[in-house]
Amino acid sequence: MYNTESCTGQAADTALQLRGGRGYETAASLDARGEHPFPMERVLRDARINRIVEGTTDVMHLFLAREALDKHLTLAGGLFKKGGLGSKMGTIAKCAAFSPARYAKLLLGIFRSMVADARLAGPMRAIDAATRRLARALFHRMVLMGPKLEMRQLTLNRLVDIGVELGVRALGASRAQRELDAGDTSGLSRALYWLEARSLFVEDLFTALSRNVDKASRAVSAEMMEQAEALPEVDSSGLSAILHDRGRDLTSGRVGTRAVEETAAAK
Ligand SMILES: Cc1cc2nc3c(=O)[nH]c(=O)nc-3n(C[C@H](O)[C@H](O)[C@H](O)COP(=O)(O)OP(=O)(O)OC[C@H]3O[C@@H](n4cnc5c(N)ncnc54)[C@H](O)[C@@H]3O)c2cc1C
Repeated sequence: MYNTESCTGQAADTALQLRGGRGYETAASLDARGEHPFPMERVLRDARINRIVEGTTDVMHLFLAREALDKHLTLAGGLFKKGGLGSKMGTIAKCAAFSPARYAKLLLGIFRSMVADARLAGPMRAIDAATRRLARALFHRMVLMGPKLEMRQLTLNRLVDIGVELGVRALGASRAQRELDAGDTSGLSRALYWLEARSLFVEDLFTALSRNVDKASRAVSAEMMEQAEALPEVDSSGLSAILHDRGRDLTSGRVGTRAVEETAAAK
């Protein structure tokens, strides 16, 4: 997700900007003017599809948020439901059994022990600390909002984005370490720059968890939806049911099996 959301799109957009008007032109238009026909606008258009196919950006965020929340909601869900003191105490006991093990894992600093080089130790400690901060932020929001948290997509998106960023930064640092272990220092300055730059980005996401305009945004969206004009009705009377789901069949291999079956039936 990091590659399709943050990386490819931004890289393609920056590359198009660097080429200016030539970036915006199609390869055919450039060719006709005798310019080098590099299809930069096509690259940007093609990069953009990654936020739609195989799960849109928005839906992927929901999936990841569910992964992060499910265990907690299963364990602590009883606290938010109606019930007697006994059942709530039982829920608290279940959480108490789970949470120490989880937080102990976070405290162990697994990543730090993997990174030997002093230049990478600082960024790795920052990832460790931010990971624990993310766990606390998630926990606090669950306590404050309860099951309503599931409906707070903008908050969930930020939590997911922080998790993705931290995962990718940890991978980046471990790759830099591997290169150093092999005696290759050529990528180190880029890695250190990138780790620092992304840590500032994560800092902004943490800030936005508590300082944001989500409430106003919801109100404005509701107002705009209220005033919006509906699109014209589509005439679907000429449509018929699709015999086979070609998209799903292609990805599952069913289309090949069916071709064999149809050939056999025709004989
Ligand atoms: C070039 C191309 C190739 C494709 N190839 C294949 C293929 O090979 N196989 C295949 O199966 N499909 C394919 N698709 C279909 C593709 O998977 C779908 O377009 C994609 O899953 C999005 O579904 P949708 O277009 O119905 O959008 P919708 O589901 O209608 O979504 C519209 C918008 O609403 C947002 N949205 C929807 N639900 C929520 C929600 N709960 N919360 C917040 N936002 C939401 C979406 O993120 C999106 O921005 C292809 C599409 C294109 C354009």
